[in-house]
Formats: sequence, structure tokens, C-alpha cells
Amino acid sequence: MPLKKSWVDSANSADTDFPLNNLPYGVFSTRDDDARCGVAIGDMILDMAAAEENGIIDLMEDPLFDVPFWNEVMEQGPAVWAALRARLTDLLGENSAERALIEPLLVPMQDASLHMPLVVSEFTDFYAGRHHATNVGTMFRGAENALPPNWLYIPIGYNGRASSVVISGTDIRRPWGQLKSPEHDLPAFLPCRRFDLELEMGAIVGTNSDGPLSVDEADAAIFGYVLLNDWSARDIQAWEYQPLGPFQAKATATSISPWIVTKAALEPFRTATPEREFELLDHLKDTGPMLYDIDLTVTLAPEGQKATTIAKTNYNQMYYSAAQQLAHHSTSGCPMNAGDLLGSGTISGPTKPERGSLLELSWGGKEPITLDTGEHRSFLEDGDTLTLAGHAQGDGYRIGFSTCTGTLLPAHKDPFKR
Ligand code: CA
Repeated sequence: MPLKKSWVDSANSADTDFPLNNLPYGVFSTRDDDARCGVAIGDMILDMAAAEENGIIDLMEDPLFDVPFWNEVMEQGPAVWAALRARLTDLLGENSAERALIEPLLVPMQDASLHMPLVVSEFTDFYAGRHHATNVGTMFRGAENALPPNWLYIPIGYNGRASSVVISGTDIRRPWGQLKSPEHDLPAFLPCRRFDLELEMGAIVGTNSDGPLSVDEADAAIFGYVLLNDWSARDIQAWEYQPLGPFQAKATATSISPWIVTKAALEPFRTATPEREFELLDHLKDTGPMLYDIDLTVTLAPEGQKATTIAKTNYNQMYYSAAQQLAHHSTSGCPMNAGDLLGSGTISGPTKPERGSLLELSWGGKEPITLDTGEHRSFLEDGDTLTLAGHAQGDGYRIGFSTCTGTLLPAHKDPFKR
């Protein structure tokens, strides 16, 4: 599919994240206006609340866009999602008959603050990247037992905390926790020493369900995708994770990028999951190309210094798609809701520069990486800024996710006296 041309000039550049083909959904505020729904186009944001108030966007009787979240749009279901996208494509397309009405409703992105684009109903995080699971398993249990026996049959996950999901740009405070170093007999309560990132994609569920979903039904229920950094305290995790999995190690924060890129925008970039060692059971089998070809990068900038690219990989490396994860999640009858966020699991490729966490890049701290500044890193240092970026590359255009960034602040001196 070629670039769809818009009368918004900046949307026609080959390197904008937001051409007419994308139309991602976010929430923004300006000095004069409260947070409301907006759509990114080039370097502008279309004020959806204003467009609705003026009657230019008229999908439902009740207003949908004068609120700081997209959950109400999600709840309208896939037919309304498609109608909205078609209407926006007409309004912002080069042959739009309504340019004069829409143009005054565009806000320069540089004048806007971005906010969480949705109310996260619940957050589930998976462990569905084979290279990541193999790397971590090899470090923790040895190469022979790297993948647990269930791993090639089900997308393993755990229930995370919706309350800890934050918007890109939010500072992250190094946590305290209970750790036990191998050289000490007793655990101690200390600031985390092995704070890490996890490069992931987040899938946003758009419709409510109350019973098992087929893979196709699950795919239809997904509204869109964001970049996701699942900040992880490795030393807290190593002590707490058996037998019920991660808990406080993953509860400090999870950052997401500000624009929800719709499934519709990603449709031309569908790609197959990797070849499987064992066939999946019928209820989880691929029904077509289930992943997306999305280039991903991670940069690390020490405080006040320039950033180094520390990892480059692609979402097509996952073993399980978001649709398969959602289908599995619903098998028990677990009700799923609009606004549920599903983390893909850390995305790592087969080679070292493709590893999506410092745990893997520094091989558990044994092989520190060297930054362009000459500094070394095994895990994150105070003041480090981590930035994830991602885009699907089309012919002369890109479907961009912008960035998901966060700076690590030092631990409080005393966690109980803030
Ligand atoms: Ca994770």
C-alpha cells in the first residue's frame, strides 16, 4: 500500500510517524483546554472533542471524545472503529471537501501535553519471546532446562498491576525491595541493584468478553498497539519468583507510548509467527499471519549525555501473537474488558544486539556493554534515560509509534520517609 496523501503537508513526509495511513489515537491537553481525545496527523493533533462538538464527527448520539481516554470508543465495537477511521481518512485526505472546517481544529503537537490514552482496566504480562525465554532460562536454570516444558504449548503470563502503568515521559523511581545475594545467608531490604528494562509491545483489548474466544475472535477484539517498557527489578525478582512468578519486581512501573496505533493501520504489515517445534493445540493455532513487521530500537542516555542504541529487533520475533495470548487468556472463561492491556513479553532476536533487556545484553552482569560515551552498563544507573522507538516501514511512509521513554531517579534514602 502506498502513502495516502493528506492536505496536512507534514503528514506526507517519508519519515513522519503519523501519515494519513496511521491515524493513531491519543489524549492531549493545551494551556487552554483540558485533556481530551486527539488524533495525530503529521506534526499536528486533530482535536476530536471539538470536531464532535462542531458536528463534523458524528458517530453516536452521546459524545465520545470529550474525555481523557479512548475506552468509550473501544466499547462501541469494530464497526464503529472502522467507520471512525474511514471518516478521518476522508476528512484529512488530500481531496477532503471539509478542509476549511477541520483546519482550525488542528493543534500543533509541540503546544500539547500528552496523557495516558486509555484507562487501563487490567494489565497482563506475557513471556512469549522464545529468544528471551531461552536466554533468561539458560542464565537461571542452565541451557538444558532453559524453556519450561509448557512454554511451547501455552503463552505463559502473569497478572500485573493496571495501577502501575504510566505514560511515556514519567520518571521512574528506583525501588527498594527484599533481595538475597548468593554470597549472603540472609535476605536484606535494600534499594534494587539490578534495575532493568524490558522491550515489549502492548496490545489493547477493545471489546468486552465473557467466555473463551477463538484466535480469530481474539484478533477481532484487539483495538490497537503501543510500545511498552516493563521496568524490572532483577534482584528482587530472583528472590521472590518461585513458585508463583514475579510480584514486586514488576510492580514499580510499566511505561507505554502515548499513541494507540490501531490494528487497522498495521494490517499491511502482518507477518507469520516463527516455525513451531510442536504443533499448537487447535484452539491456539495460527489462522493466518498473526504478527506484525515492526522495527524496534532501544536507546540509553546517561544523565546529561547522548544516547547509545543498545538494542535493535523486530516484533516479528515473537513466538505467540497477541491474538493467541488473548485467546489463551480467555480459555478459563476469564472476562476480558475494553482497556485491558496485554504485554507481549520481552522481544529479543537471535543475536546479541537484538536482545531486549540489559539482563540479556550484559548476560546477567557478566559482560557489561559499552556505551558510545565510553561508560559501561550491566544494569541501569540513576539518571539513565531509556527510550523505546518503533515503526512499521511502508513504501515511502512509516506507521510510527513515536517513543516510550523514562528516566530512572535514585532510590529514596529511606523508602518509608518520603
Ligand atoms: Ca515483562
